[in-house]
Formats: sequence, structure tokens, C-alpha cells
Amino acid sequence: MKKEKKTPALLVGHGIPDYQEITPKDINIFIPKLLDDLNIDLNNLEDDLKRKLDNNINLNWEDLFTPIHKIGERLRWSWGVISHLNGVCNSSDLREAYSKQQPEIIKFTSKFGQSKVIFNCLMNIKTNRINNLNETQIRILDAEILSMKNSGVGLEGNNKDIFNKNSQRLAELSNDFSNNVLDSTNQWSMLLTKPSEIEGLPKRVLDNFEKAAKEDKNFKDLFSNSKEDSSGPWKVGLDMPSYISFLTYSKCRNLREKIYKAQVSRASVGELNNKNIIEEILILRKNQANLLGYENWADLSLASKMAKDKKEVETLLEELRSAAFKVAKKEMIEMQECARNEVESNSINLQPWDTSFWSEKLKQSKFDLDQESLRPYFPLPKVLEGLFNLCERLFDIKISKVKDAEFPKWHKDVSMFLVKNKDDSKIAYFYLDPYTRAASKRGGAWMDDCLTREINDKGEKVLPVAYLICNQTPPSGDAPSLMSFEEVSTLFHEFGHGLQHMLTEVDYPQAAGINNVEWDAVELPSQFMENWCLDRKTLMSIAKHWETGEQLPESEYQKLKMSKTFNSGLSTLRQIHFALTDLKLHSEWNQNSEISPDQLRRLIAENTTIIKPIKEDNFLCAFSHIFAGGYSAGYYSYKWAEVLSSDAFAAFEEAGLDNEDSVKKIGKLFRKTVLSLGGSRAPSDVYAAFRGRAPSTKALIRHSGLNS
Ligand code: ZN
Repeated sequence: MKKEKKTPALLVGHGIPDYQEITPKDINIFIPKLLDDLNIDLNNLEDDLKRKLDNNINLNWEDLFTPIHKIGERLRWSWGVISHLNGVCNSSDLREAYSKQQPEIIKFTSKFGQSKVIFNCLMNIKTNRINNLNETQIRILDAEILSMKNSGVGLEGNNKDIFNKNSQRLAELSNDFSNNVLDSTNQWSMLLTKPSEIEGLPKRVLDNFEKAAKEDKNFKDLFSNSKEDSSGPWKVGLDMPSYISFLTYSKCRNLREKIYKAQVSRASVGELNNKNIIEEILILRKNQANLLGYENWADLSLASKMAKDKKEVETLLEELRSAAFKVAKKEMIEMQECARNEVESNSINLQPWDTSFWSEKLKQSKFDLDQESLRPYFPLPKVLEGLFNLCERLFDIKISKVKDAEFPKWHKDVSMFLVKNKDDSKIAYFYLDPYTRAASKRGGAWMDDCLTREINDKGEKVLPVAYLICNQTPPSGDAPSLMSFEEVSTLFHEFGHGLQHMLTEVDYPQAAGINNVEWDAVELPSQFMENWCLDRKTLMSIAKHWETGEQLPESEYQKLKMSKTFNSGLSTLRQIHFALTDLKLHSEWNQNSEISPDQLRRLIAENTTIIKPIKEDNFLCAFSHIFAGGYSAGYYSYKWAEVLSSDAFAAFEEAGLDNEDSVKKIGKLFRKTVLSLGGSRAPSDVYAAFRGRAPSTKALIRHSGLNS
């Protein structure tokens, strides 16, 4: 009998991947092979399309989108499972194989995304077939054209050369920027040796500092081998967890000042100075925008977002700013008073290095909330039950666990769940990988797509499958995973993304679920779900002591609720300061400006900060979100999406959270609009279909306690 050749697990290209069968060795063998195949497919497709265009044959949707999707999906499926495993089952072999193949993947993706022939075909369909397309197809087509245009595919001759050169240079500059931030962060540390220098720091924090000192070979001689107790020395660095812990707990005001000044002046002097890089980035971005026909980089960024224009963003930010400013002033005065009472000195004037410390003190005295002690009230099984019940109430769905033997998994702690309609018709599946695994799992929490809803080649319906990945406390002994309230919120957040992925009713994969949803609207369902964590009915159904079954005491619930808005004037203002600075740098600043980017930031600080930036404060030099990440002229998205999610939740509040009929009715509507339509309609239309009007900042102002 002839032996049939089996397709390697990595190249199956459809269905749920067989995770255990995919090895780092496979990656190095099969990814190059896959890319060879895809390159051939792409070349053939381009030849075929070009021939049709040359012969003046007008293209149909299927002529173009079907083959493009086929190529894209084969790559997404195989590379998607590798990226997934790289995040959840990392090993040095896997990491090595991943980094080895990644540049080739990027190369292919950009070749694909910048294909002139494909672009011409898109334009051909736009010109000749637009009347044959439905609304969803038009949105997919327009988004594709815009994205290709903005990557420069429509440029010719000299302009194209300049554009490509600029792009290359911008990539280098962003890389240099982030390396400088990283190096200057790592270069600085302070060694504490005296007990007086560690006053106020909790044991957990001190243990980490001591560990850091021990791991630093420069300080090896300072430790005697016999010493087991934590008697130092302690090394404090500028990495976020260390920095924040130190500012929050250290009683040494002069050391707080020292670390604060080091933090805010990172990458602003000497060899690692980012100032020139910032100016070059801003100038080049403006040039790029001009070449593409935009007035500035902010206009380019906003062209593919929900926000219509700069004015609309500024209006929203100003509404929040004016509400937050008054409250932030009061919050600062309250902290100032707290400090004066405690240090028995009327002369203390709070400086930026004091605010975290006094904020924590004030919080303790106001709420006395011990987050750790609440964990026994949040066992994972109970939390899941509550979350599923909520979704069943709101969205008319049923969620049940799939038996372990019935699906492939990458780790024993992973579970799979099935989502069904009330009539038992299947909608989707999701994986849940809840616990932290220090050695092999990336930190943070995320939702990713395993499979997207679509109608496949054979005309069969493919059900969406989501990955929900968290990093919460694992079970220990007899106890299940006991979650902090923050971990509960994170789970709800990721579940919100998952709901949008799973409950989509769009059959075009390009716009199903979170695909084709604008950057500034994509956090709507996730933050919306977070709001339910503090809904009394939801929380009280979850929060039961894992051993005694005792309900979370009302007083603790109240503390959780109040602590949510603690100092939210100051934190809102901080986000607005960043958002406005980002927006104005990318729209108002240019090389002929009379002022430097830093001076522009200081002007904005006039009414977006309570304590003005000190002279050492060169925050822009480490503002990686906008100079090395994807947030340029898009930092406002954080607040924008929060406005949407708060306003959406307010629809339930207005009808009454205790009014079960209304809650169900509005929940169904949320499912029919936000969760079902995904990227198939403009987000403002989707929102209006849910809310009956445009979003308003009122609810966020109220939820943040800024309406007093
Ligand atoms: Zn999110």
C-alpha cells in the first residue's frame, strides 16, 4: 500500500491547530517552505490580475478578495499559532526559531501590503463595481485602499523614493529612541545600605531590591555568604515596578527626589539624548504626511480612526479636562493637608516626587482597603460562573465547558468553552489560559484570534475561536486560583474583546469580530465589560469566600467602589496632558516653530497639570508610546474609548440596573450592534445604532467622580 504523505501540523491551515505537534524544528523547516509557496501564489495572482487589467477586464470582488484572503489566511494561520505558542509556551528553542523567521514574515507581509497590482485592482473595483457591492464590502474595500495609500503605494518617481527613504529612516529613529530609553533606564541605579534609607518600603519590595543587588556582579562583595536575612544592601532601578514602589512607599524624601529626577530626565543628556531624534521624527512624519496629501501627521493618523478630525478630539479632551482640573486641584489640596498633618510641619509644599507617597497615605486613611485580603472572595470558578451568568443575562447566550479530551491544548491548565444561542445553535468557542507561568508565558493579558468567523472554500461556516490569556495567581494547595479585584477586572476586560470576536455576525473575515474596527473604538467592548465588575448584582453574585461561602461584606464593596474614583481628577488630567501633547506635536509643531517640542509641552502643561514640570523633567525623551510605539497622534484613544464604554454602560444605568427586563433588552441591543457588526460599519454608525445618538462625555465624567 502506498503511504500517504501527511500534511505537517504547522501547515494544515484550517481548523484548530494541533499545538503539541508543532516544534521549533518544524518552524525552521516549514515556514521558509510556506513563504516560498506564498510568494509563488502572490506572483501568479499578480500576473493574472495584471493581465486582466491590461485587457480592460473589470474585476469582481471574488476575483480579488478571495485569492488575497486565501494567501493572507494561510500565513495568518501558521504564523498565528507560532506567535501564540511563543507567548504561552516559550522556550529558548522556540524563541530562536521565532526570531529567525520573523524578518522573512515581515518582508513578505510588506511586499503583499504594498503590491502595486493589488492596489490598482482595488481602485478598479472602486471605480467600476462599487454599485454591485454591499455596505460591508465597501467598507472593507475603502479600508484596504486607505491603508495601502497611507503606506505609499500610490506614489510615483521621486516622491516614492523620498517616501521610502523617510520610512526607513523613521524606523531607525524609533529603534534608536527606544534603545536610548532602555539604556538610560538600565544605566541608572542607587544602592541603599542603611536601614534609614529603606524606611517605609514593604518587605515584598525590599526582597526584590535585595535580589536585584545580589544579581548585580558589581555588588557581589557586599554580600557575605552566610547572610540569609534581608539586611541589604538593596538596589533600586528605574524600571517601572521598582520606581513606582519606591515613590509610593519610601519615607526618604530626598531619595524620592533623587529617583524622580533620574526618571524624568532619562534619555535627555549625553550620548543617549533623544532630543534631536524627537525633532527629526516629527519633521519626517510631517513630510510623509505631506507626500500623501495630508496637512500633518495628525490628519494622517485620524484618517483611519473613529474620531473625525483634530477638532473633535480636542473637544472631547477639553470636556474631560475642564471637569478634571477643578477636582484635581482639590485632590492636591487634600494631599497637601494630609502631608502637613502627618509631618507636623506647615511648611511642606508637595513636589512631584511626593504625590505618589501622600496619595497612598491618604488612600489608606480614607479607605483602609487591603486588596490582598479580598482574594479569598474571588475564587476563579465562582468568578467565571458570575461572568458567564452575566453574559447569559445580557446577551442571551449559554456558555459551557468542553470536555478536556475533546480539543487540543498547549498546557494542562488550559480549558475550552462553547458559546451557544438559547436555541442551542453553536456560536463560537474560546480557550482560557488563566494562570501565570513565570518561565514560559509572556506577562499581561490579551485576547487573540485562533479562528475568525467566515464561510470557507467549501461553503461551510467556520465558527470563531478566541484565545483568552491571563496571568493571574495559580491555585495553591487545596485553594483554587484566588483572584485580586484587579485580576477579576482584567478577566472581564479580555472577555469583552472575546465577545466582540465571538458574537460577530459578519461573514466577511476582513470585517468580522475586531477586524477592521478602528483603533480608537476597539477598547469599547472590553472596557464596557469592566464596568460590570462594580455592578452590585454582578459583584455580589461572584464575591463569595471560597471556604465559607460568606458574601463579601458591604463595607468592602463600598471601599472598592470609592477607591475607583480616588484621585481620578489627577489621573485623568495626566492622560489628557499626554494626549494633547501628542496631538499638538503632530499637528502644530514644525521645524520653523519658534519653540522646541519640550517648550510646546510646557505650554500645554499650563492647564493640564497641577504641579508644573520641573526643569529636569524631559518626559518627551522617554515618551515611547508616540516615538517608538504605534500611538503617534493616537494617544487620545485611551480616553476616547473610555468615553464610549462609559456612555454605553450608562444606557443600562439610565434604565435601572435592577430593572431586569430593561437590562436584558439593552443587552440584546448591545449584542445586535457593537458585538455583532464588528468592523462592517463605521464605528460612529454602530454606536448610534446602539445608543440612538452620538457618544457623550457625561457618563465618564460621572463614573470618574469628576462631576462634583
Ligand atoms: Zn484591551
